[in-house]
Amino acid sequence: MPKIEIDEKTCKSCGLCIEACPKKCIAFSKEVNKLGLPWAEFVKPQDCIGCGFCYQMCPDVCIEVYK
Ligand code: SF4
Ligand code: SF4
Repeated sequence: MPKIEIDEKTCKSCGLCIEACPKKCIAFSKEVNKLGLPWAEFVKPQDCIGCGFCYQMCPDVCIEVYK
């Protein structure tokens, strides 16, 4: 099953990966990171299709995709 990992420490909360995911697998966390920002969380791993759109959109290279 494909999966992604998001580096919550470097996520700047831009939301581009959340908009890009066709399966709505990513959402903002309820807590904040050391930057004082909610990070992008992988909330629906069962729906991920490994398309890589989230990886391609992240301007800070916070996301890795594993197929
Ligand atoms: S790889 Fe595709 S389906 Fe999986 S979280 Fe990223 S954008 Fe969503
Ligand atoms: S695109 Fe990158 S920086 Fe923006 S919310 Fe997603 S993981 Fe965070």
